[in-house]
Amino acid sequence: MLNRDIAEVLVSRDEINSMVKQLGHALTEDYKSKNPLVIGLLKGCIPFISDLLKELDFILEIDFMDVSSYHGGLQSTGDIKIIKDLSTPVKGRHVLIAEDIVDSGRTIQAIRALLLYRGALSVKVVTLLDKPKGRVVELQPDYIGTTIPDAFVVGYGLDYQERYRNLPYVGTLKPSVYASTEE
Ligand code: 5GP
Repeated sequence: MLNRDIAEVLVSRDEINSMVKQLGHALTEDYKSKNPLVIGLLKGCIPFISDLLKELDFILEIDFMDVSSYHGGLQSTGDIKIIKDLSTPVKGRHVLIAEDIVDSGRTIQAIRALLLYRGALSVKVVTLLDKPKGRVVELQPDYIGTTIPDAFVVGYGLDYQERYRNLPYVGTLKPSVYASTEE
């Protein structure tokens, strides 16, 4: 049913599965003796972090933050608001932020600066998707599943007006969807 709103599948379910396995392998090599705090950014991280955690073969803890930058629409405002903060102290911890997509880089840049200010030993970023063409700040995610073109995508956690997060793949929406949801 949701499929009929999708114009093009950019990253298939199988591709996601193999990327998550590869990322898990690389992270297990790098973090096996660090007991990191893995932080997911709600709500988009949910499918990704849930799949990724199962591929991480080392001691870790998890926590979540909810920050907003897109306000359910299409464009980044650069205005980042903390809606839900961490419940775990980061001082003296190695932190790994798990993100669904990095676009302008503003969200991750702001969170990374905050966590370092709070005393994190290191802050690295794993993202399933990277849109380097959208970048407005200098930021390179440390672990990337795949790079995608500068298009607005939904699925596997990513929403349009809070919908489509439950698609098991990543794709673009048909223009008719935007037309029908415009106010
Ligand atoms: P940034 O601060 O890097 O511009 O934005 C990061 C956040 O913007 C992501 O966590 C995600 O919520 C949202 N975002 C960026 N690009 C897209 C996209 O193509 N589709 C959706 N649904 N959200 C996006």
